[in-house]
Amino acid sequence: MTTINIVLAGPRGRMGKEAINMIRDEEKFQLKAVIDRKRDDVSYEHIDVPVYYDAKTCFEEIKPDVFIDLTVPEAGFLHTKTALKHKVRAVVGTSGFSNEQIETLKAIAKETNTGCIIAPNFALGAVLMMVFSKVAAQYFSDVEIIEKHHDQKIDAPSGTAVKTIDMIKQVRKAKKQGHPDEFETIKGARGGEVDGIHVHSVRLPGLVAHQEVIFGGKSELFTIKHDSFHRESFMGGLKLAIEKVMDKHELIYGLEHVLEFKF
Ligand code: NAP
Repeated sequence: MTTINIVLAGPRGRMGKEAINMIRDEEKFQLKAVIDRKRDDVSYEHIDVPVYYDAKTCFEEIKPDVFIDLTVPEAGFLHTKTALKHKVRAVVGTSGFSNEQIETLKAIAKETNTGCIIAPNFALGAVLMMVFSKVAAQYFSDVEIIEKHHDQKIDAPSGTAVKTIDMIKQVRKAKKQGHPDEFETIKGARGGEVDGIHVHSVRLPGLVAHQEVIFGGKSELFTIKHDSFHRESFMGGLKLAIEKVMDKHELIYGLEHVLEFKF
């Protein structure tokens, strides 16, 4: 059994803490260090490895097999760029990257021949929801998305909603949905819109990560729904991504590209 040495950014975060537990439970994974931002008011009681405040120094000193980012888009982009430049494979769960940032990382991964998996959602059920939505959109062109997350989430719509729209767009021609003369009496009531697909973001305490993709047809409605009730739902996909990135040499966006399907 070959050990996979890991560096994780975001160790104090909710996802980061869950990921550290998962890494500890896996015999073949070894946490070597963490990357955090410097704060005076924090404790690292749950962390028994070196804490770095600078990604470059960390990758130069530790040289891990895999870097995991679970932070915020701005920091996550810089960390991942630095990892790839140091030929460290990256698994990125942080959501909210722009297309331009993803293209930049893709180019660096190609240039350095280094694997990188960016997955807006590690929950296997959520990945299947996106795949099934792409299938359904080939038969139902009227579709809206409602995504619901906890109220500490800073980006909207969620990375999962953006990814779902991207996948639907691959098989659906842009079309205006709803009444041609529809108007809003409260701004934003119809949500965000891409190619006629409307997306609605709910943010409330009590929620974790939930999404419904609703397809409307003649006298029928088809809903694909996924709920993550706890952050442990993301750990199976994170584990899979760490294993799969080991033999990748390019950037892969979305866990569906490393899953195998039979129809
Ligand atoms: P969280 O609890 O807010 O944790 C984020 C962590 O990142 C915090 O500890 C924060 O520190 C830290 N951070 C902020 N700026 C940083 C920097 N410059 N350098 C290093 N660390 C920094 O959020 P979460 O729920 O764990 O989510 C983390 C990310 O994963 C988000 O982007 C979220 O959307 C995404 N996510 C992905 C999935 C998936 O399946 N792919 C699932 C859930 C969430 P402070 O406390 O000091 O701000």
